Amino acid sequence: MHNPRFDFPIFRSSHTPPLVYLDNAASTQTPETVIDAMTSYYRNGHANVHRGVYRLSEEATSQFQHARDAVRDFIHASSSREIVFVRGTTEAVNLVAQTFLKPRLQPNDVVIATEMEHHSNLLPWQAVCRETGAKLHILPVSDTGELKSEALESALNKGHCKFLAVTHVSNVFGTVNPISELIRLAHQADVPVLVDGAQAVAHMTVDVQNIDCDFYAFSGHKMYAPTGIGVLYGKTEWLQSMPPYHQGGGMVRNVSLQEAAFREIPYRFEAGTPNVVGAVGLATAIRYLQQLDRIELQEKETRLVQMVVEQLKQYPSIRTWTPTQGHIAVVSFVIDGIHPHDIASILDQEGIAVRAGHHCAMPLMQRFQVPGTVRASFGCYNDVSDADALIAGIRTVFNIFE
Ligand SMILES: *Cc1c(COP(=O)(O)O)cnc(C)c1O
Repeated sequence: MHNPRFDFPIFRSSHTPPLVYLDNAASTQTPETVIDAMTSYYRNGHANVHRGVYRLSEEATSQFQHARDAVRDFIHASSSREIVFVRGTTEAVNLVAQTFLKPRLQPNDVVIATEMEHHSNLLPWQAVCRETGAKLHILPVSDTGELKSEALESALNKGHCKFLAVTHVSNVFGTVNPISELIRLAHQADVPVLVDGAQAVAHMTVDVQNIDCDFYAFSGHKMYAPTGIGVLYGKTEWLQSMPPYHQGGGMVRNVSLQEAAFREIPYRFEAGTPNVVGAVGLATAIRYLQQLDRIELQEKETRLVQMVVEQLKQYPSIRTWTPTQGHIAVVSFVIDGIHPHDIASILDQEGIAVRAGHHCAMPLMQRFQVPGTVRASFGCYNDVSDADALIAGIRTVFNIFE
């Protein structure tokens, strides 16, 4: 496979020491092709969409529509109408919580989430439960950072369940959840499911029809696309049953001073001028990913994480979480007696970018009684030299603290 590293300008610009970028679970870098597509859009083709009858606006509208088709293809949705452009995963989850779930909840109903959720897939459910008197039931995570489907079964058996929100891949441990199985169990109990795909889409192929989720949310900036653009996938029947989330221009068919008739899906959920350049960037990032050998890429990323884990295990004072059921692209660790922030600062001096802290998953940190972890996360451009640099950096940490 051609080395994707050369496709990213940031790795060609000079950094001293050379940049070892291992914070891909927070945001990925942007390939030249995406930067070029966005620049070209502004240089040659920018106009507001939907409303113009002149050529430039029609062309922008058509690019925007093509981007929606590219997303449909990327996650194998059955129709482009099921693709709603949003700012990111956070907005997608809030949209579903407020417009799908809230009107369906009664006091004492139960919403299920898990201990490994990112705050973005937890707080919106806490809010609807608070607002409606429903209860939030949390599925526990095992000592190795895994979710057990038996826990879901017993929660469903207690009845009153109205919804399941679960992440496809953990942003802290890289755990790949048995998503099809969880969805199958939930559907047996007539419970719709939202999957947080923020950590999945860049690393594995996702087929929403195959896993049969009701909603799927992800962000552009974690899959080589720009910030400020993301996707909510929803099954047609569900989206059609939902009122708009935001009100404004672009999403209406007819407006009088007192009333408005809304447009069909997905436009009903896209009030205001949309992020057209973001959609163009996202579609280009999708094409970029699709021309890579994605199986090979996933194997490479997994191999790198395993290499790092093997090395970390040599140190008795290092604790890692390595789920056995499936695990990609991310490794979290702590070192006895050294604060995660100190580790990350020392690594930064060596040019190594990792994240330290709670990773927007404070309940998970509490579960494992750590203030935070150091997280190294890999992307398509990382190779063995990055894994080696990280290990060498950790040796430096030990030298400094000895
Ligand atoms: C990053 C992340 C989010 C939030 O994404 P935003 O782009 O910040 O909205 C949600 N869930 C997971 C698993 C994430 O990694």
